[in-house]
Parts: sequence; C-alpha cells; structure tokens
Amino acid sequence: MAGSVPALPDSFTPSSDSVYSDQFGFYSLDSNVPGLSKVILDKLNMTDYKEYRAALEGKGRVGFRSHKEMFQNLEETFKFCACCSKLSSNLPDPKALKRCIKCLNVYYCSKDCQKKDWSLHKKFCKMLHKVSIDRLVEWLIHTGELPFPTEAWSRPAKDIRCWDDWVSMQGDLTPRLDTILSGQNMTDLWTNACRPRPEEAELRKSVWRVCSEFFSRSLTLGLGIQMARLDPYSRPLTVHLVGAGHNETLGGRTTDMDELGRMFLGHQGLEVVMVGPEVVQGPIMRPPLRAFGPRGKVYISAYKGLYHQFWEEIVEKGEAAKPDLVIGFHPGFHASQGLGEGWLPTLLLLRDYNIPSIFTMYNDAELQYSLQILIELEIDVKDTGANPFSSQKPEQVQSSPNKAPSYCSAFYIYFQGLLETQQEE
Ligand SMILES: [Zn+2]
Ligand SMILES: [Zn+2]
Repeated sequence: MAGSVPALPDSFTPSSDSVYSDQFGFYSLDSNVPGLSKVILDKLNMTDYKEYRAALEGKGRVGFRSHKEMFQNLEETFKFCACCSKLSSNLPDPKALKRCIKCLNVYYCSKDCQKKDWSLHKKFCKMLHKVSIDRLVEWLIHTGELPFPTEAWSRPAKDIRCWDDWVSMQGDLTPRLDTILSGQNMTDLWTNACRPRPEEAELRKSVWRVCSEFFSRSLTLGLGIQMARLDPYSRPLTVHLVGAGHNETLGGRTTDMDELGRMFLGHQGLEVVMVGPEVVQGPIMRPPLRAFGPRGKVYISAYKGLYHQFWEEIVEKGEAAKPDLVIGFHPGFHASQGLGEGWLPTLLLLRDYNIPSIFTMYNDAELQYSLQILIELEIDVKDTGANPFSSQKPEQVQSSPNKAPSYCSAFYIYFQGLLETQQEE
C-alpha cells in the first residue's frame, strides 16, 4: 500500500489498543463498561464478533462512506463516562457526555462524575492526550506515509544499545518528519478527525512514537540475533515470528523488516517467516524459502496456522528452512485459555529442538506469568528484562482509561532448550 491512499473499506484499522484477538477478550470489555462491545460492533456496522474478526483479517468490508465517518465511528467507541461507565445510549440525554478538554480522550456524563474522577484522571490525563493523537496518526502507517525513511547503520549493531544510540545514527530527522507533517493524508486526517490538529512539535513527537512501535519489532529481532550469538555476516539466517497476527501483518509490506538489512549491512541473507492463526492476507503471504534468500536482502514470507502445524506440514517436509531464532511479540500464552491446543505444543517444540527464542511482553505482570509457565515446562530461561527497544507509544486500556499505560514489547524473555536439573547427591 506504500505511497498511495488505500480505498476506504480497507483503510479502517482498529488501533492495537482496541483490538481483541479472541472473543473472550472482546466481550470482557463489557465487564468494565457494560454494552461497550455492542457499541463497537454497531459503529463498525457489524453484528457480531465473527464479523469483527473477519474485518481484522481483511476479509470483511467495513463500509464507511468517508474518512469523516470512519474517524467519527472510531471516536464513538470511546464514548462512555470514565467515572460511572455509562454509555451515551443509557443517558436521558445522549448528548450529555462531555469530553475532558485537556486530553480530548475521556468522557463524562456529568460535572459530578468529572469532579469525582479528577483525582484519579489527573495522573493519566497527559498520557491519554498523547494516546488519542497517536491513535489517529497511526492511520498514516496504513496509508504508507509512516514509518519515516531511515539510514544504514554507521556503527556495529552491538554498539547500539538503546533508542538514543539508534537516533544518533539517523542524522537530522526534522526534514523527514516535516515531509510527513505537510503531506496530503496528514491534512486529510485532521480535517476529518474529531479533534483539532495538534501543534507541529506535538505532532512530530506522535509520529516518532508511532514509528518507534514499528521499528521496535526489527530492533528487538536484531537484539535476539545478538543474544543467540548468530552471525548474519557469515551465513544466511532464518527467523520464525510465531503468533504473528494483526499487529505485524495487517497491511504488512514485504519491506517491513528492512531495518534489519540496514542494521547488518552486507549480511548473507535474512528471512523472516510470520506464522500464526491470525496472519492477515496481503503481499507478505508468500511461501517461505526452501533455501536461503538473496544476500543483503530481508525476505518476508508468511504462513497462516499454528506454529507446530507449520512445523509438521512445511518445515519437516523440507519446504522451509529450520529457524536459527524464533521471536514472538506478546504471544500472550499466559492468558490463553487454550494453552494446551495453541501454545503448549509450540513451547515444547521450541524446547525440544533447542531453538534460541525471544518473546516480548507488555508489562511486568505479563512477564512474571509467562516466566512461571516457561519454568513449569522446565525451559531454560537465559535472560529476561526491560527491552531497550520497547515501543515508545503508550497503550491505554480502552474500557478502563485511568490506568497506567503499557508499551509494546516493553519486556523480553530469552530462552533456549531444556533446563538441566542438578543431579541429586
Ligand atoms: Zn458518569
Ligand atoms: Zn483528561
């Protein structure tokens, strides 16, 4: 889709803070705000979760007549009282819901509710202000304006330890950001959005945050390559991205991982195979390579299905290369009710084939739960901690805005093989 304005029906993408990858998660919205799941479906002109999922997977059609209608409908899904959780349809006067004038993100049904909530909301108002801008700017990823172009790395990957190091290799970003700010789609966005265009400095920061989430994936993958002590200069590498879904593949382009090529300039060929039941149809949906791809190029392919199925149907038949590294962004197996059917066979496969693996998590609680599961499976956890290349874009809990935000890939766990148990004397 790079460079062109996509047709309207495809351009609607629920942002990651409003995407529910399973039915349980989607309807759990209602435990905070009764009826919210129905509002979201109504506003998207859908009848049930199945249709919502189909749209996420690029199958369904979300019929909006204009960008204005699309942005308005997106905004409607945030319209409930942040204090008493009432939806506008449950108020005597549906127009009574008023937005907090500072963040333009949360709504209140009355002055009383706003007053009552302020001591809590004031801790999150500034953050929620950013969130509501990012939510709109994210649209420019799907129109192809974002991410901004980046430079080949002038220093070895091992010397780039944090975002500041990475930014220091980019030279002056201002002209690149300003091109985006003055673009037609940016103008179109704020003409149709339900809030005024922010000041340029603020908008530039938002573009950076949204791009950081995008680049975070390549940079975290590069970190995994280094942790596994793989050398992309001496031989081609294959990386499997497990549990790939909407975030990595909706509107996915074959160039999405090109930052890896700039990171390891002159490498012998890198292939990233995206595997997951929620992989979305698109240009990346092409068969994995049996042998290695061309030198110096990053090749993305994809397979829709569970990872252990992919292994049985494709890898074991020699139709795809075995992985040198496996990466998973927020696999969420700690919360998965069907660990046995989905993630358990995958985790055991990774363990038994002794494959270096790196998984990321949104927050510390998720990290702790995930660690517990890996330890119970006697998997050898080699390293864990805060990801230096965590996304810089705050994510709000849609149905419960006054909570600490989380960040994509904020933490990581690096593991490989079976934990060797000490022989008892
Ligand atoms: Zn209220
Ligand atoms: Zn506010």
